[in-house]
Amino acid sequence: MGKNLDPKCKQCRREGEKLFLKGERCYTSKCAIVKRNFIPGMHGNKRKPRLSGYGLQLREKQKAKRQYGILEKQFRLYYEKAKKKSGQTGEMMLVNLESRLDNVVYRALFATSRSAARQLASHGNFQVNGQNVNIPSLALKEGDVITVKSNKTKNKYWSKLSQEESATAEVPAWLIADKTKLQITVVKAPTVAAIQSNLQMHLIVELYSL
Ligand code: SF4
Repeated sequence: MGKNLDPKCKQCRREGEKLFLKGERCYTSKCAIVKRNFIPGMHGNKRKPRLSGYGLQLREKQKAKRQYGILEKQFRLYYEKAKKKSGQTGEMMLVNLESRLDNVVYRALFATSRSAARQLASHGNFQVNGQNVNIPSLALKEGDVITVKSNKTKNKYWSKLSQEESATAEVPAWLIADKTKLQITVVKAPTVAAIQSNLQMHLIVELYSL
């Protein structure tokens, strides 16, 4: 499965906002958006593009792909699948993106970024409902229980995490994150209201519908 290898901070600077791709650094004054919030490149600080129509739609799609760490082909599949479902396509897309295993691990604060969560998932750290999984894009559904595999819990990373207090207030209400048990439960499917996304999904749908 491919992934975007562009430097993470450059991706944020291209979009002109924090996409929180680097974990803890994103919350510090070292963040490149704090220090150099202009488009990368020699004349980046002189260019202030005024976008409309297609440009806006394209930037919104790029932002979403970068946030979720997905390349074009797979991202388009989220659109195609959402289009076939009843309901608003953009909303369905967002719900499906949020239901990915790597995103759930990130939202439950078991990893500080989606890319770190993706790595944990692809390295086979998790079981879903008792079954070994190593697919970061795995679509989770209501009632699914994600646990850290017992042979991994002794790792420094997991033993440290299991001693942290679960910050319930910061975990979305559709998840229960139990750091002591190293377990995440999807209590209900995410809703658009619960996701509180900064993405304007209708722009992405408009772009794909052209
Ligand atoms: Fe983006 Fe994080 Fe880099 Fe800031 S530190 S530019 S939020 S990846």
